[in-house]
Amino acid sequence: MTLTKKPESRPAASSWGLAAGGAPWDYAPAPEATDHVTIEPEYGLFIGNRFAPSKPRKTFTVINPATEEPLSKVAHASKADVHRAVTTAREAHRSSWSKLSGRDRAKYLYRIARILQERSREFAVVESMNSGKPIKESRDVDVPLAAAHFFYYAGWADKLDYAFPNREPRSLGVAAQIIPWNFPLLMLAWKIAPALAAGNTVVLKPASTTPLTAYLFADVVQQADLPPGVVNIITGPGEIGMELVRHPDVRKVAFTGSTAVGKMIARAVAGTDKKLTLELGGKAANIVFDDAPLDQAIEGIINGIYFNQGEVCCAGSRLFVQESVHEPLIDKLKARLGTLRVGDPLDKNTDVGAINSAGQLAKVQELVQSGIDEGAEIFQPDCELPERGFFFRPTLFTGVSQSHRIAQEEIFGPVLSVLTFRTPEEAIEKANNTPYGLSAGVWTEKGSRIFKMVAAMKAGVVWANTFNRFDPTSPFGGYKESGHGREGGIHGLAAYLDISGDGAHTR
Ligand code: NDP
Repeated sequence: MTLTKKPESRPAASSWGLAAGGAPWDYAPAPEATDHVTIEPEYGLFIGNRFAPSKPRKTFTVINPATEEPLSKVAHASKADVHRAVTTAREAHRSSWSKLSGRDRAKYLYRIARILQERSREFAVVESMNSGKPIKESRDVDVPLAAAHFFYYAGWADKLDYAFPNREPRSLGVAAQIIPWNFPLLMLAWKIAPALAAGNTVVLKPASTTPLTAYLFADVVQQADLPPGVVNIITGPGEIGMELVRHPDVRKVAFTGSTAVGKMIARAVAGTDKKLTLELGGKAANIVFDDAPLDQAIEGIINGIYFNQGEVCCAGSRLFVQESVHEPLIDKLKARLGTLRVGDPLDKNTDVGAINSAGQLAKVQELVQSGIDEGAEIFQPDCELPERGFFFRPTLFTGVSQSHRIAQEEIFGPVLSVLTFRTPEEAIEKANNTPYGLSAGVWTEKGSRIFKMVAAMKAGVVWANTFNRFDPTSPFGGYKESGHGREGGIHGLAAYLDISGDGAHTR
């Protein structure tokens, strides 16, 4: 990495990241190359291992949120296309995929995992261009974890009888999978890998703003020579997602996204025998006790809320600090915020990239304004933002009370709300005072306190002295309004199998 001395006067805003807060040194630009990547001008729907236009032919434009420039056009599926995709997947399940041995399914999954690794640079660049996330995150987190999910579930494909002894596990049929825009490739892997390992076929609908790595994955499916129809990918707006959910030949629905849409999907599936998993929003509490190693906690807090611009369902968006360390911790946090580099997602030194869409940026701005109006104190580092693109400064609110919207609603942006507490009981009471229950974090030196807090948190995942750690072997999911069901680990496999022993979910 090259360091250059910063000139006396601050340079004009440039399109690459700028050091914040008057740091004496600045980084030279370190842009990732894009010449090894091909983005097609137009992508058709991927059904039966072939790309074809929607019927009737209709497209919409996908843009780069960091530049607002168009990247490609993708097919806008019709109701008839949804039917074609589901029928193709059903036929593939009946005629090929469900007939293969677990060992043979595993070979395909291993092949996909290896191709993802081989093409990891290409995937990372396209992911950052399409979603706005920093290249160091797509390169070091999203793509390796996506490959790890395929490796992990490949290992289970021929061991289902051992995973669920005496339960005669059977595949369900066609899985409808709807994924969001914050981790496009990773959410695809979380959904497709366990579904295929369990012997199902899939129809996946990516978010409309971020379909490009899904279509790149379709290319991997062709390269891996999967039987036609095992993986189908269709693009279109939310209504197309709902058509997919409602299709009578779908046996399993897996959704990640907002709680509002999750509730609509739950209503649509109610009364059918479709299996359903919902991974919805969150408003995680990150709790710092006065005996915590503060410098380590600062890194965990930063990673908890500014990773992926805070567009993370399990982001540590509510920070609870024990009163006696509030002042030193906030001082350290503000200093650390000043070192975050906001800018070009393709620059290897960028910490905070672009917000995914103009609509999401407007939502973040509106909620931040509500925080100011309701009397919380705002802090933002003095960093310049690129002139184009959907950027937002990392933001910290102190003096937040439980009733403020910024303490209650999911912001899904780089915005941290800080609250205080005196006793562990008060921390538990306040942390659980939310309709969500996806994740939480605890920072303390005392092992006994960790056990007490972990047991008391009403959250599906609780991290101790760390935050935002993911592993394919570990189940992930929430309760209350954060959804139900688990993804990852053996639990994630069970969600794609009929283990009732009576074939209740299989057709
Ligand atoms: P949505 O829940 O609307 O989108 C998630 C996925 O669902 C997308 O593929 C979307 O398609 C699809 N979808 C939208 N409407 C329907 C529907 N009626 N039936 C079936 N599928 C549908 O999230 P948004 O993108 O609107 O984001 C809004 C808020 O949701 C964010 O601000 C954030 O708070 C939260 N969110 C939470 C996520 C999480 O991981 N928990 C992820 C994303 C958002 P399309 O893109 O075409 O609209």
